[in-house]
This record gives sequence, structure tokens and C-alpha cells, in this order.
Amino acid sequence: MYDYLIIGHGLAGAILSQRLLKKGQKILVLDQPDQNHSSAVAAGIFNPITGRKMFKTWKADQLFPELVNFYPKLEEHLGSNFFHAIGVYRPYFAIDDQNDWEAKKSDEKFKAYIDKTSTSNIDTHQLHDPFGGLFLNQAGYVNIVKLLDANKKYLIDKGSYQETMFYEQDLKSHSDHLSFGDLKFKKIIFCNGILAHQSEWFHWLPFHPVKGEIMDIEMDQRPTTIYNRGVFILPFENQRIKVGSTYKHQFDNMQPTEAGQNELKEKLSGLLNETYQIKGRRAGIRPATKDRRPFIGKHPDNEHIYIFNGFGSKGVSLIPECSKLFTAHLLEGEALDAEMDISRYYSHYPTKPKN
Ligand SMILES: Cc1cc2nc3c(=O)[nH]c(=O)nc-3n(C[C@H](O)[C@H](O)[C@H](O)COP(=O)(O)OP(=O)(O)OC[C@H]3O[C@@H](n4cnc5c(N)ncnc54)[C@H](O)[C@@H]3O)c2cc1C
Repeated sequence: MYDYLIIGHGLAGAILSQRLLKKGQKILVLDQPDQNHSSAVAAGIFNPITGRKMFKTWKADQLFPELVNFYPKLEEHLGSNFFHAIGVYRPYFAIDDQNDWEAKKSDEKFKAYIDKTSTSNIDTHQLHDPFGGLFLNQAGYVNIVKLLDANKKYLIDKGSYQETMFYEQDLKSHSDHLSFGDLKFKKIIFCNGILAHQSEWFHWLPFHPVKGEIMDIEMDQRPTTIYNRGVFILPFENQRIKVGSTYKHQFDNMQPTEAGQNELKEKLSGLLNETYQIKGRRAGIRPATKDRRPFIGKHPDNEHIYIFNGFGSKGVSLIPECSKLFTAHLLEGEALDAEMDISRYYSHYPTKPKN
């Protein structure tokens, strides 16, 4: 009998699998990889200060020290290289922006995340940054596809992975365990990304799927850091450069669109002076939530069924810390952070199952 059956091997299922194995749990991960699953499309950027108004990200002081420690250890454990702490350069929009950040840069709240600032342009050829900008540290990217490949190999070696579709209607509940076909397990954890939205068990949670599009481009001068102002330019592995992303709340398919490409080109024209060629385009759906907080915890009606999901556009920074807290909750009975715990939505749970 397994201790845990994990459904889904995106970034959430992969990292959680490592946390549970490290604690000596017997686990099995079931995954039916889907081309457009969010982790396969994501740029993988982690950035502590984001948005036009440059807010410090939620719980940054917990999330960032944890992630910069976690990923390099996971690289060593899996014998792979997917973590790139290359920083972010965020050009100022205007002189007000510059004045504001020159005053704020030594503020205790931001100090740990600011490497240095510039009050004039750093590269006259490539970037449109007449007011200079901020260099952020504890920022960079994770090559998520590479992490998932390495983790999958590791799990297969341990007999802890099966490539198969999990069908909810075949889940059987017994007094002290669950079963799915021949598999018996004490608990099941859904790390199924956006498909949780259609789940019999968790459809009542207020998911808010957000479509995103990304382009691969080529240009002569390759950046050495991530540029980010309204759009990001990410110097990725294998000479690739990624540009993204769009945020669409209304959509009727999972494919890249002309409108998405035009939006990215328009934003890029405000940041980049150099010409470029578009080499590829991809789209995916972020498993985002209405209140922008993760969905973690126990099903209201069945103590064997859990969810670990809702990481929206920040999976890379949220999942290391959230998986640590969730594992402590599962194995040591630690209380979950109320802002992440799905018990905040138990009042939405219908008493009768959905037809
Ligand atoms: C365009 C775009 C750009 C992004 N950029 C970034 C970024 O720069 N930084 C960042 O942190 N995040 C980014 N994200 C968000 C990031 O992708 C997510 O936060 C994260 O990857 C979610 O991982 P997940 O494991 O929860 O879900 P998913 O990646 O969707 O994984 C779910 C897995 O479960 C499997 N599954 C589902 N149902 C079943 C079933 N019944 N049986 C078997 N398998 C099943 C799916 O096939 C999939 O493999 C981006 C997303 C998009 C779309």
C-alpha cells in the first residue's frame, strides 16, 4: 500500500513528490502529460518585485530565501542543471520612477532584493531605458521542463511513477484507505493543475484560469540578464530567448493567437531597440485562483483526499515553500497558513455532488 498517490507531474506534483520521498513516504505519481500543461509552457521566472507598480511579491521574505536554497539542492539530488540565478533588470518608466526607487533602495523592506540601480541607460544599442533602472537579485529562471525530465527519471528508477490517466470515477473509498484499479493508498493528492477546475471533488473552488502566450525569438546581441518592463526578455538555455507573457481571462482555445503575438510585439517595441526574428510561439493556461492564493488542503468530506494547486503565474517561487508547509501539515499535523488552506472556501462546497 502506498502512503500517497499524487495525481499530476507538473511542477507542483514533482516538487511535492521529492518532499514526501525525503520524509520516507511511499509514493506513486500518476501523470498523463498534456502538451499545454502550464509547467511545459512557463518561462520559469522568479522575481521578488513585480508589476507596473513594482510591489514586493506576497510572502517574498519567506518564499525567496527558501527557493534559492531549494532548487540548487534539488539539482544536486537529481544530477541536473536547471536553476539560473541571472537576476532581472527592470528599466524605470520615467523620472518619477527613478526618484522613487533611488529613495527606496536602502529601505529594509527592499534591500535584500536590490543588487544595484542605474540612473542612466545601461546599453544604448539594445534597450530603451533612458532613465536607467533597477537590478534585482534573488531573481532568475528555472528550466521547468528540464527539472521535470530529471525528476521523472528519478521517480521511474524508484518505481514511483506511472504514465497514465487517472479517472476520478474509478476512485474507490474504503474505511481506512482508497483504491484505483489495483493500486491501494492511504491518501491521494491532486496536483492536476487547471483540470481540477472540472473535478468532481474540487470544482467548487474558485479557480480563475488565465491564458498566457510566449514567443521564442532570435536577435544578434544576447542579454546576460532578464529584462522586464511590461514584457520580459529571457535569455534561456540553448541560445533561445523567450518573450512573454500575455494574460487573458477570456479565451476559447489553448492555441497561440495573432492578437497575443501582436500584443507581445507592441510591448517589446517599447523596451527593445534591436531587431529580432520570431522563431516559435506557445500558449498555456495558468492554474490561477480568484483570490490569487494557492489552494492547499483537505477535502471537506473525505479525510483521505487533498489538493495542492492554484499556483497561478508564480509556481516557481511558491511551490518550494508551500510544499514544505504542506508536508509538515500532512506528516506532523502543523496548521496550514490560513491564506493557502482551502478551508477558507468550505462554505462554497455543495452538500450534494455535482451532476
Ligand atoms: C505562458 C505562461 C507563462 C508562465 N510563466 C511563469 C513564470 O515565468 N514563472 C512562474 O513561476 N510561473 C509561470 N507560469 C505558471 C506556471 O506554469 C504554474 O504556476 C505551474 O507550472 C503550475 O504547475 P502545476 O503542477 O500546478 O500544474 P500543471 O503544470 O498544469 O501540471 C498538472 C499536471 O497534471 C496532469 N494531469 C491533470 N489531470 C490528470 C489526470 N486526471 N491524470 C493524470 N495526469 C493529470 C497534467 O497533464 C499535468 O502534467 C506560466 C504559465 C504560463 C501558461
